[in-house]
Amino acid sequence: MSDKRLKVCLRGAAVFLAVSIVFCIAVICGVNIQKSNMEKQRLDTETKLAEMQMPTFAPQSTEEVKNDGDGATGESNAVKTAADALGIDDVTVGQSQSGAGKKVIVLDAGHGKSSSEMTSDEKTAEGYEYNESKGNWGEWRHYKNGTFGENCHGSGCTGLSPENASCWYSMGNADRDTEPQINLDNALAAQKYLEQMGYEVRMTRTSNEQNPSMDKRVSYCFPNNDTTSAPDAAAYVCIHSNAGGGRGTSYIALGADYEQKFIGSDFVEKSNEMGNIINQKVAAATGLSQNSPINTPYLILFNKCPVPIAYMEIGFYDSSDLSILQSSGDEIGKAIAEGIDEFLKNN
Ligand SMILES: [Zn+2]
Ligand SMILES: [Zn+2]
Repeated sequence: MSDKRLKVCLRGAAVFLAVSIVFCIAVICGVNIQKSNMEKQRLDTETKLAEMQMPTFAPQSTEEVKNDGDGATGESNAVKTAADALGIDDVTVGQSQSGAGKKVIVLDAGHGKSSSEMTSDEKTAEGYEYNESKGNWGEWRHYKNGTFGENCHGSGCTGLSPENASCWYSMGNADRDTEPQINLDNALAAQKYLEQMGYEVRMTRTSNEQNPSMDKRVSYCFPNNDTTSAPDAAAYVCIHSNAGGGRGTSYIALGADYEQKFIGSDFVEKSNEMGNIINQKVAAATGLSQNSPINTPYLILFNKCPVPIAYMEIGFYDSSDLSILQSSGDEIGKAIAEGIDEFLKNN
């Protein structure tokens, strides 16, 4: 072999060796890259699985959900969606079950703390105002035509106040001694039975230390008392007892024109239907005689309530009815609840 041939041979071997080394490195690295990719994919999958197992609603507190403006229904839906995604059958977060598609009933125990026992701050907090020209605390009977939540201030209203009476209703006119407790007992019993039936109940007051204005009482028809949104209550029921020495149970019938926002064209018809059904149930449950409806269509609440309203006058607390009222609170509450339930099932 000549020197020249040897050189060519050696060069060829060197090139072959170099190519082989490069090929080997390439193969080894390729495998590593592939291994590395597989590892990454495996980690990604694990992370995804881990994320899927994290409850997505966990950081959202019940309080935040309550205040999101959507009311309790939104809260329940959010929890339910997260629960469905995780395959969990039953999730309870705080009080999230309230309002889970439940119908809302507002129960209004009439009257309350005597105005003479309330401080000015208390009166303001409960929604009353001081009227200098009238020289007393009270509230306006009506909302102004074409507005919602804007009081008539004696003008611009439909003039539905009682004849020869003012649009201004003095707070002291509603002071009572025996009645607040009877109303509260009946209302609390009705609340208990309605909740057992699956309704969401909002109470305008829960003690005799409270005496909200009519505006404030009506605000419970709206989610979070926000009167700028649409009402979400199905019915509003005022629970009172009568006075003047008669006997028996009745309700106050609506009969005039009402112009407040949100009421349907059947507002009067539906309201009177509900009052009548509840009255029948109360009479049957207590033995109180079933009186015909009372005709007082100009009441503040009739002019302000945005949903069907029943205004009950259950027994006379200043007659021998009093002993029935004081011993039959639970039966009366049950009858009120059954009446509301029957009305809503018919409608
Ligand atoms: Zn008025
Ligand atoms: Zn009353």
